[in-house]
Amino acid sequence: MSESSFAAQPYAGIATFGRQPHTRELNGADVAILGVPYDSSTSYRSGCRFGPRAIREQSLLLWGYNNAQKVSPFQTLKVIDYGDVDVVPPDIVATHKAIQDVAARIVNAGVTLLTLGGDHSISLPLLRAQAALHGPVALVHFDAHPDTWDCEYAGQPFSHGTPFRRAIDEGLVDTSAYVQIGIRGPTAGPQDYADALQLGARMITLDDAVERGLPAVLSEVGSVCAGKKVYVTIDIDAVDPAFAPGTGTPEVGGFTSHQMLKLVRGLKGLNIIGADLVEVSPPFDHSGITSILAANLGFELLSLWA
Ligand code: MN
Ligand code: MN
Repeated sequence: MSESSFAAQPYAGIATFGRQPHTRELNGADVAILGVPYDSSTSYRSGCRFGPRAIREQSLLLWGYNNAQKVSPFQTLKVIDYGDVDVVPPDIVATHKAIQDVAARIVNAGVTLLTLGGDHSISLPLLRAQAALHGPVALVHFDAHPDTWDCEYAGQPFSHGTPFRRAIDEGLVDTSAYVQIGIRGPTAGPQDYADALQLGARMITLDDAVERGLPAVLSEVGSVCAGKKVYVTIDIDAVDPAFAPGTGTPEVGGFTSHQMLKLVRGLKGLNIIGADLVEVSPPFDHSGITSILAANLGFELLSLWA
């Protein structure tokens, strides 16, 4: 980090993530923050196109030191805010191509990518860019929903309910190491969960996680992902709407903010090659609480890399 970025007051200046420099110069960078202001594939209430901006705004108050992880990620790492992808709201294929192109430019330069969504469809082009470089990746997926539908809308293979089905179809995911955590809520029938399991997902429902306890969950994730390149995707609706109301398809009975922070911290030791944080929808937020949580989850991810 530059000293000057923390010399200013957190409410002054232009909002970049963690007050880190906005630049597209990748030379020398360790981590790039990328925004994807796209929500055209949401199935219920939209608004997460405003997610990146709101998360950046709330990230201004992230002071540098992480007391839980005992690191100063903005000092240890050179973090840049790359800005946003130029999305094409009525064209998901064009948007996904734009995301993949920017992500490829970043990861191929050896820079770790943390992406702020945007709806969950964006994980597909991000995984395409990661898998092109690394081969099929282990996947740790926090969500209330499996997102493994084959088709959410007739004839439309891409939406925020299908990214991981498509990613598996395309061979981007190592299905021996695909863990879903926090799944819950009503579905149209038992088939939704059965389909996810059939595809190879190791599903840890919210009930499982609470009954077994977070240390047991993390130990399972650790053993499944050991020695693998791991991608982490966090749908903010894994968290209870009492803590994260600003999202498009809320499901009651989720993780608390504290549990979610502990889960992310508990990924320490994994070889995490990239991550995204999606489905933060500021129009449904109150007092910024969802984006404050998202900013802090981003800080925890940066701290893991530090
Ligand atoms: Mn979800
Ligand atoms: Mn999702």
